[in-house]
Amino acid sequence: MTAYHRRQTVVVDVGGVKVGGTHPIVVQSMTNTDTADVRATADQTRALHEAGSELVRVTVNNDAAAAAVPAIVAQVDVPVIGDFHYNGHLLLTKYPQCATALAKYRINPGNVGAKRRDENFRTIIEVALAHGKPVRIGVNWGSLDQQLLTEMMDENARRPDPLDAREVMLEAMVASAARSAELAEECGLAHDAIILSAKVSGVQDLVEVYRRLAARCDYPLHLGLTEAGMGTKGVIASTAGLAILLQEGIGDTIRVSLTPRPGGDRTEEVQVAQQVLQSLGLRHFAPQVSACPGCGRTTSTFFQEMAEQIQAHLKEQMPAWRARYPGVETLRVAVMGCVVNGPGESKHADIGISLPGTFEEPKAPVYVDGRLKVTLKGETIVPEFLRILEEYIEARYASPLVPG
Ligand code: SF4
Repeated sequence: MTAYHRRQTVVVDVGGVKVGGTHPIVVQSMTNTDTADVRATADQTRALHEAGSELVRVTVNNDAAAAAVPAIVAQVDVPVIGDFHYNGHLLLTKYPQCATALAKYRINPGNVGAKRRDENFRTIIEVALAHGKPVRIGVNWGSLDQQLLTEMMDENARRPDPLDAREVMLEAMVASAARSAELAEECGLAHDAIILSAKVSGVQDLVEVYRRLAARCDYPLHLGLTEAGMGTKGVIASTAGLAILLQEGIGDTIRVSLTPRPGGDRTEEVQVAQQVLQSLGLRHFAPQVSACPGCGRTTSTFFQEMAEQIQAHLKEQMPAWRARYPGVETLRVAVMGCVVNGPGESKHADIGISLPGTFEEPKAPVYVDGRLKVTLKGETIVPEFLRILEEYIEARYASPLVPG
C-alpha cells in the first residue's frame, strides 16, 4: 500500500474553518435554491450543515440574491461562500453588506466579463482585500477563459510538434488558475488568502489537471468533478476522481457535485463526500458498518431486515452519540450474514454480529474486541445486540467531561 502523504500547502482561513496544511480535508456543498428566497436558502444551508457540510456555497447571481445574503448568513451557523459569475464586481461593490457577510468569494476567471476582464477581476480582489476575505479562483472547463485558450491554441499550432487539443486545454486551465492567482497577489491579496480549483467532468482529465496544479503551487486545492451527474453515475465518477487525487495527498477541501432527482435530498452530496474521506481513512464522521452483501445463504429477508435495523439505529443515535461519546465515529461494526465470513469479519471489527444464514441454527454470535462475548438466539437478537453495542460505546467512549 502506498503511504499517504498530504501535499504541503499554505493554510487559508474561511470564516474560521482552516483549509490546507495539516487541517482536516474540509467537506463543502452548494445550495440549489433561489438565493433571493431567504427562507428556502437558509433552510437548505442549515440542512447541509447539519448533514456535515463545513462550508456552504450559494450562488450570488443578481441584485435580489446579493441583497438576501446578509439575512441568510444571519440565520445559519456555517460559513457561507458566494459564487460569482459575470457581475461579481458589480454586486460586491453595490452590496457591501453581502461582501461583509460572505466568508469567501468564488471567482471564475472565465466569467468575469469578456471586456475589462482584468479590471473586473481586480475589483473583486479589492473588495476581498477591503473586507479581509479569501477567494477561490475556480476555473471550469465549461467556462474556460476563451481568450487565453485561443492564444494557447494558436501558439501550439505554431510549434513544430503541436500537442493535442486535450493537452492544450488542460494546460490552459492550469495557466488560467495560475495567472489569476498571480494577478490577485499583484493586487495585494495575501498568498494565504487564495484557494484554487480547476474542475472538469471527466475523471482522467480531472486527475491530470490537479496533478499539474498541485506540482506548480502551494495554494490549497478545492477538489471536485464538475457536472458529475445523477444517481450512481455521479457518485461513482466523483468517487473515482476524488479518491485517486486524495490518495496522492492532493486536495484540501472537496465538493461532490451531484444532480439530485426532482425533490431529492440535497444533502446526499455531503454524505458522499464524507463517505469518500472516511473510506480512504482520511477522516471519520460516523461508525462504519461492514455488512456482507448476502448471497444464496441469506435467501430470506431475515438478514437484510436485521442489518437494516442495526444500521438505522446507528444513524439515528449518531447525533446524540457524537456529542456524548467523543471518538465514537471511529467505531467499526460488522453485521454479517452467515457463518462463512461472519465470525472472521466480526472479530476484525470493534463489535460484530454474525447473523444466522438460511439453513443455520437461529443463533448469532457477538464478538467484542475480537473475542466471542455471547451467542444470541430467538426473536430478540437485534434489541439484544443493540443493548450490547450501547454498553460497549458507553464503556469505551463516555467522556467524564460530558454529562450523560
Ligand atoms: S458472509 Fe455468508 S451470507 Fe454473507 S456473503 Fe459471505 S457467505 Fe454469503
